[in-house]
Amino acid sequence: MRSVTIIGAGPAGLSAARVLVANGLRDVLVLERNPEPGGLPRFCDHLGWGVLDLHRLWRGPRYARELVRRAAGAEIRTNVTVTGFEPGGRIRVTSLDGPAVIESQIVLIATGIRETPRGPRLVSGTRPWGVTTTGAFQEMAQAGQVPFRKPVIIGSELVSFSAIMTARHAGIRPVAMVEANARITARRPGDLIARHVFGVPVLTATRLVEIRGLDRVESVIVEHEGARREIACDGVVFTGAFVPEAFVAKTSGLAIDPGSGGPAIDNFYRCSDPSYFAAGNVLRPVEHSGVAAAEGARAAAAIAMALRDGLPSPGGAIAVSVGGAMRYVYPQRLIVEHLPLRLFGRAAAAHQGRLRILADDAVIASRPISVLPERRIAMTIPAGDLAGRHAVSILLD
Ligand SMILES: Cc1cc2nc3c(=O)[nH]c(=O)nc-3n(C[C@H](O)[C@H](O)[C@H](O)COP(=O)(O)OP(=O)(O)OC[C@H]3O[C@@H](n4cnc5c(N)ncnc54)[C@H](O)[C@@H]3O)c2cc1C
Repeated sequence: MRSVTIIGAGPAGLSAARVLVANGLRDVLVLERNPEPGGLPRFCDHLGWGVLDLHRLWRGPRYARELVRRAAGAEIRTNVTVTGFEPGGRIRVTSLDGPAVIESQIVLIATGIRETPRGPRLVSGTRPWGVTTTGAFQEMAQAGQVPFRKPVIIGSELVSFSAIMTARHAGIRPVAMVEANARITARRPGDLIARHVFGVPVLTATRLVEIRGLDRVESVIVEHEGARREIACDGVVFTGAFVPEAFVAKTSGLAIDPGSGGPAIDNFYRCSDPSYFAAGNVLRPVEHSGVAAAEGARAAAAIAMALRDGLPSPGGAIAVSVGGAMRYVYPQRLIVEHLPLRLFGRAAAAHQGRLRILADDAVIASRPISVLPERRIAMTIPAGDLAGRHAVSILLD
């Protein structure tokens, strides 16, 4: 039996592998379904990587190579897809060699996120060639393919700007960025940069209602304040609307937080089955790679502790719930002898009000707050404040 198997060779999984090797583990296995390790950054050939964790400003593929180099000492197996989790650290995998089972004392789930493609977004119209997600587009661009010349970009998250930058590298000129909300989702001045640096008009309060074209995309119909108009284009890139890649966890019976969409964890990154840990973007839709890498490293430190000395029993953890405009908070369970307790969350929508932390019915922290749904909210619960308490609520009202 292995000590640790890590699922996913992205920033979280590779950073975890590095820390576990540094802790003296010699049998760490990393499984990756893609042909190469590195995760999402491998496909993002633009600057913006390594800033938080490596203090470098690199392109994605360079950053991915460095993470792989730093994980030396761990065995990385590619073209292996994990298809099921069984209690106690038995995982089912499939590869070119067929199905197999791998047993480990501990499994770390670091499977990242995926974008919402056209289907679940319920956009009407025809089904022509040239409709894609940012991830698929970036893979094509990386392989030297040019799927379109003048697409529209749907969405205005940070990743939407990554799509614009990838397009520009490939000589593709997006004709518009379309955002249903009144303002862009990424921080300002993203819209000004899109307009004035990349020459892409940003259409806010505008909804994509139809895709037209027979073999290829020929145009889209958008709606702004009840009025519809046609935009000529030859492609549609659906960006963002991320969900954690937690399908296997969900179908295998691990507890999933309906707010984050990822596995519910305690403050040691332990899932509802204590043989499974989770870290990185699988915990919630998307943070910067440096945040995912740091979580992978912290989860690995907890795993090393679990293997060496054992961790406090998961029983008796205090459940954390959210209310008001809060969408989710993690960790969802707190073991109080481990302090300080750091929690992270996000609001469901733009909100101005007060953030309150309640232990049972007593307010233990309160502050005014102005948040956007894409901004991470960090909270610390002071040492001792949860002694003898049974429940924590995070309220945004
Ligand atoms: C288009 C785009 C641009 C971005 N640009 C930036 C940027 O400029 N700077 C920045 O800091 N961050 C950026 N981000 C965010 C960054 O990509 C993530 O924070 C980071 O990759 C998260 O790391 P992770 O290890 O959690 O997940 P990932 O990088 O997604 O890695 C997860 C890995 O798990 C594998 N996997 C999933 N399921 C299975 C399975 N069942 N079996 C085996 N393997 C599996 C996947 O193939 C993948 O390789 C961007 C994100 C996107 C989508």
